[in-house]
Amino acid sequence: MLFLRSIARKSSKLIVQYNPSRCVRSYSSLGVAKSLAELNRLGETATKLHLDSSTDIVCNDIQCERVTKPCACKLAVALEKSGKNLREVDLSNNNLDVIPESLFENCQNLERLSLRNNKLTVEAIGKHYKLRKLKLLELGGNPGMELTVECYNRLAKRNVKVRV
Ligand SMILES: [Zn+2]
Repeated sequence: MLFLRSIARKSSKLIVQYNPSRCVRSYSSLGVAKSLAELNRLGETATKLHLDSSTDIVCNDIQCERVTKPCACKLAVALEKSGKNLREVDLSNNNLDVIPESLFENCQNLERLSLRNNKLTVEAIGKHYKLRKLKLLELGGNPGMELTVECYNRLAKRNVKVRV
């Protein structure tokens, strides 16, 4: 009996060891998209989306009412299609005043969201609770963003770190 137990202990140790962090690390260096074209190409293998000061956020769709201005219409479609495994999204420095609905609906694995230096208000992040794995939310440099105490508390309760 004692012998069996020690085998069980040993095999559970083996299972723990059989999850090499090296694998996880190399995986995270892959799947980085730095444009919407790259995101579309990577599809669900994309793990990071870096659109800091991106020309992709300036609308060039003549059928969109915001053509030539900062707009998230293309981003919305790309996230719908390829947002599923994104863990990190950076939309800093884009003059955005809206965050597409599909970010909250389709990016269930999002851990870090950077929205620094835009024109966002608190309404834009109202659906943060849908991002259940969110750990870090960067909001600095949005002059219209006034987080209420209630909002802070809600984020703190979920262990989301907020940088303002
Ligand atoms: Zn547009």
